[in-house]
Formats: sequence, C-alpha cells, structure tokens
Amino acid sequence: MALSLKGMQQLYDDMGIPQKVAKFVQEAHEGIKAMFEPIDELREYHQARILKFMGQYQVSQRHFYPSTGYGYGDEGRDTLDKLYAAVFGGEDALVRPHWVSGTHVISDCLFALTRPGDVILSITGKPYDTLEQVIGMGNDPSDGSLAEWGVGYKQVDLTPQGDIDIPTVLSLLDDPRIKLVLIQRSRGYSLRPSLSVKQIQKALRDIKSKRSDVFVVVDNCYGEFTEELEPCHVGADIAVGSLIKNPGGGLAPTGGYAVGTSRAIEKLSYRLTYPGTGREVGSYAASYTPFYQGLFLAPHVVGEALKGAMLMAKAFEKLGYETSPRWDEVRYDIIQAIHLRSAEELIAFCQAIQSASPVDSHVLPYPWDMPGYRHQVIMAAGTFVQGASIELSADAPLKPPYVVYLQGGLTYEHVKLALMKVLAQMYRKGFISLP
Ligand SMILES: *Cc1c(COP(=O)(O)O)cnc(C)c1O
Repeated sequence: MALSLKGMQQLYDDMGIPQKVAKFVQEAHEGIKAMFEPIDELREYHQARILKFMGQYQVSQRHFYPSTGYGYGDEGRDTLDKLYAAVFGGEDALVRPHWVSGTHVISDCLFALTRPGDVILSITGKPYDTLEQVIGMGNDPSDGSLAEWGVGYKQVDLTPQGDIDIPTVLSLLDDPRIKLVLIQRSRGYSLRPSLSVKQIQKALRDIKSKRSDVFVVVDNCYGEFTEELEPCHVGADIAVGSLIKNPGGGLAPTGGYAVGTSRAIEKLSYRLTYPGTGREVGSYAASYTPFYQGLFLAPHVVGEALKGAMLMAKAFEKLGYETSPRWDEVRYDIIQAIHLRSAEELIAFCQAIQSASPVDSHVLPYPWDMPGYRHQVIMAAGTFVQGASIELSADAPLKPPYVVYLQGGLTYEHVKLALMKVLAQMYRKGFISLP
C-alpha cells in the first residue's frame, strides 16, 4: 500500500494530489494487479528470446564502436539487422537511425515495392494520418506523393466488428494492378480496435492463396512485443515500425526498422540509400549501443506501458467514462483511448500529463496545427527523446468525440503518478467527483 509510507503522503501533497485522488488510484491499482500475470509471462518469454539471439549473434563491445563516413563494413549496423530479423521472425531486416520515423519507413516501403501503374490496397481502412499525404489521398495530391508518381490507392474498411472484410478484399484482388496490400496492426489515432496477429495471419493466408505475387506490408507501430508472435512469423512480406516506440525500449534516440523477406528487404534497401549499393553504406558516429540496449529492455518497457494503460482504463471506467480497450480486454498494442466529454477535458488531461513528465513539466501544451495532421492536436510529450511515444505521452485531436489517446510509460509507477495528477486536475476543475 503506497499510502502506508509516511513520506508518500507528503510527496502527494507537494505534487498537488489530494488524498482522495491518491486513494482512488490506489484502489484502481488494487483492482487490476491480478491481471498482471499474463503480461509478466509475455515479457519473460520475449526477454528469453532476445537474450538467446544476442548470444547467437555474439553481440559484443565491438558492435558498439561508432562508424563514420560511408560506413562500409559497420558490424554494429549489420549485426543489429540480423538481431531484428531473428527477433521479429523475418529472413532479413534493416534497422536505421537514418529513417526519421515510422512514417518514413512506411513511405520508403510503399515506394520501394510499387511501380507506376500499380495500386496499393489498404485493408484496414484509412491508414495513419501522416500517410495520407504520402499516398496523395484527397483532391490535391501533395508534391512527391505516390499519386503524383502514378501509383493508385484503394481501401477496404474494417467490418463493424473490427475485422478485415476478407470477401471484399479477395474480390478486389481480381484487379491485377493491385501489387501491395497494406495492413495497420494498431488503432493509431482512430477508434477502431487493434488487430491481433491471429487476424493478420488469417488475412495473409487468404490473400496469399489468391495472389502470391502481392507484397503484404504491415504497419507494426505500437504492436511489438504485445503478443507472442509478430506479423512476419505468420507470413507478412514486411513489417515496419518506429524505434522511438516499442522496440527502442525508450533508449533508441531515433530511427525506424523493417523486417521481412530477403526480396522485400533488398528492394527497400535500394530506396533507403541508392540502387546498387543499398544496405552496404550508412554510418552512425553516435554508436548503436542504445539500439541494442533498447531492444534488450523493450519487452519489459512494453509491459510497463501495458500495465499503465490498464490502470488508466480502470480508473476512467470507475468514473463512468468509456474506454477502448476496456481495462480487462486483451491488448494488441500499447494505446489506450479514453472518451472524454469536451475539448476542455482533453486540454486539462494533456496538460496534467505534461505536468507529470520528467522533462518540460513546467511547459503548458496547447492545441496546434501539426505537420501531417488534418485537425488541431494537443500533445503531452515531456519525454527524454523528442516525440518518443514509448515514453508516457498523450495526444488528442480537438474534435468530437473528444478522445484522448494515451500511450507509453517507461515505468508503471510514473503512469500511476501521472494518472493521479490528471485526476487531481479534473477534480479541481469540477469535471469529476470522487467518493
Ligand atoms: C506512429 C505510427 C506511425 C508512424 O508515425 P511516426 O510518427 O512517423 O513514427 C504509423 N502508423 C501508426 C499506426 C503509428 O502508430
């Protein structure tokens, strides 16, 4: 019981957390701890796998030496690629700090695996916001988009139950121009449920038995280490994600990764650098140490984030709010959506998360127009790595139904304290009442 420590109550006072808020959150915690078991089991499993593969590839100090210039023969880079391929179940992988973010890798993937005249088919509805301009959706395709390049786009929405609409997908695959199928595993900034790897597996089986020639690309952002298997274990041609989310373990300072078949990864490597040379070049003077160490920590950190998300859901459900997923639902990503009741509540929520951050806690976030996003967004991101969403962060587009998306948390304790600060703020503003 946290409240039994004498110094703790003083700290809550110092942080402006009323006793009844601390007590309420403590009770929410007591109500969920019995559900930690499967999360702990999962992370022990992934820890063991990562440890095994690190041993297998004889990761050693020499892989941590920085490289410069062209980076020919950079063993740190090349061994990290092999490690990711093994951990994420692909034949090959590329893990690079040169990729700015997840969107950058997905974009490179779409360009690398299509040619003018081809059509991309998204089978999980509208893809993540930042991809709209990559694809060139809407009336005025931005310069350099796939649309401008002559690559078309179609989408199939998820069924009302949140499943892939396989019959529609299969009938569209009669169109031979479709050369790439895009699947988004996580909910991203939308209210759809996240897909399980099992659902992805079923779709892959059906798609591949009809059209073995299409590339199936999985946007794996936020899904890593939340389940036993990853998309490439069940036949995805390529799965890609961001290193400042799950697999970076909070330590990777930037970058993206792609894991997949040798053929898909080779094509991607020519887009990553240039045709003919591909993966042979690319140096990193800052050393790959945080990428290795981050991957080593990632299963543990993802577990902390999952527990934190569960606690947030539990507390807000107790207060009568709708959440997705609900606290005791099986989770396939680290995102927690909470339906608040107004723009004012969204702003109060995000400002309180910011105030509970280890970095920039004195800064007050406001809604703003973000590059790549269509609506004003408010973000709380008091993170060590700029924009890292494996660290505790919250984002909310300022539009009904007033949903805040919360993710990350390097430690469960931090998420718990942040929840107390959120509820303290909402209580002070009269948005909630507490027993
Ligand atoms: C984060 C994310 C991306 C990529 O976003 P970046 O900010 O560019 O890393 C793509 N898809 C989903 C579902 C995401 O969550």
